[in-house]
Amino acid sequence: MYETSHFQQYRNLHREWARPDFINLNPIQRGGILSEEARKALLEFGDGYSTCDWCPPKEARLDAIEKPPISSFYQDLAKFLGMDVARVVTRCREAKFIIFMTMTRPGDIIVVDSLAHYSTFLAAELAQLEVVEVPNSGPPEFRITPEDYRAVIERIIKEKGRPPALALLTHVDSHYGNLTDAKKVAEVCHEFNVPLILNAAYTAGIMPVDGKTIGADFIVSSGHKSWAASAPTGILAMKEEFAEKVLVRSKRYPNKELALLGCTVMGAPLLSLMASFPHVTERVKKWDEEIEKARYLVSVLEQIEGTRQLGIRPKQHTLIHVQSDGFWKVSQQHPRRGYFLYDELKQRRIVGIQPGLSKHFKLNTYGLSWENIKYVGDAFLEIAKKYQLL
Ligand SMILES: *Cc1c(COP(=O)(O)O)cnc(C)c1O
Repeated sequence: MYETSHFQQYRNLHREWARPDFINLNPIQRGGILSEEARKALLEFGDGYSTCDWCPPKEARLDAIEKPPISSFYQDLAKFLGMDVARVVTRCREAKFIIFMTMTRPGDIIVVDSLAHYSTFLAAELAQLEVVEVPNSGPPEFRITPEDYRAVIERIIKEKGRPPALALLTHVDSHYGNLTDAKKVAEVCHEFNVPLILNAAYTAGIMPVDGKTIGADFIVSSGHKSWAASAPTGILAMKEEFAEKVLVRSKRYPNKELALLGCTVMGAPLLSLMASFPHVTERVKKWDEEIEKARYLVSVLEQIEGTRQLGIRPKQHTLIHVQSDGFWKVSQQHPRRGYFLYDELKQRRIVGIQPGLSKHFKLNTYGLSWENIKYVGDAFLEIAKKYQLL
């Protein structure tokens, strides 16, 4: 038996961080803030299978729907990324898993950068692959170079007698916000005939990414992280030559794409991604200014005692990893311990730095106005002053 009065709590759900007067620095949330158009689409297409009003009976597939214009959107999405074919799936991790499942066999080796997202490792584990990591330079920069890829691939060839089945590069990683030279990594991979997956979860949709210039064989990305879209939305884009294999049709249902399990995102999240597309294709042009804002905030934070930015300097991305021995020292004496930093920021309407952290924390300046960036910088300085760290 269950108590139904208890269920009333689900009727009026509320999210404090959605308040328009809050500044949210959460690294995974900045690029997923909806455009006005997406917010409208979300309501308009909120009902269940809302994409399916005009599903063509012959193809009976999401990518063939013309009303709303999903079919043309997939083509425009591929073009925007400099790729040949694109599909929207539920998440970046699903896109990786689909590529792993269709391009490899269990037991195959793949090469992955050591700063890859945990979901890359999970997708590989589920696909029963052996992962060989490309090392990084360690603290303080944690840099990964094309030559590191070369060394790992050459070692695998020497030991196993054949190259890895695939390589994956995390274009910008989620730990330090380091940007790695994807074009050069692609060149190295292609010397050994290894197809390259570019994980653009933190790049495509917020900065210019052109698969053709880079030479990527696959691009995967995350709509809810970097395309001003609702969760769950992921992007799977590829060169034509791989489409037959990755988008292989079912034997039993020959019009269905097997690894996509037929249709993927059949409702509001997909429409939010589409509605934000014009906004996203414009915003990537303003990337240089986003970098300026990130660098400005780093220069402010580093005025605080014992505080420095980790990862490649100067910043080439808006995700910033901060190490603060100063704030950590304060936390050791403070009754709220590491939560003091969260409390102090929250009092100033700033949220998104993980509550409890003070020694190592991450923040993302993407899309903040100069006014807000300066306000955030001043708030940190004010807190530092209060605790004698200036
Ligand atoms: C956030 C992130 C992901 C996960 O994206 P989902 O769309 O939630 O699967 C994958 N890779 C990297 C590098 C990320 O930063």
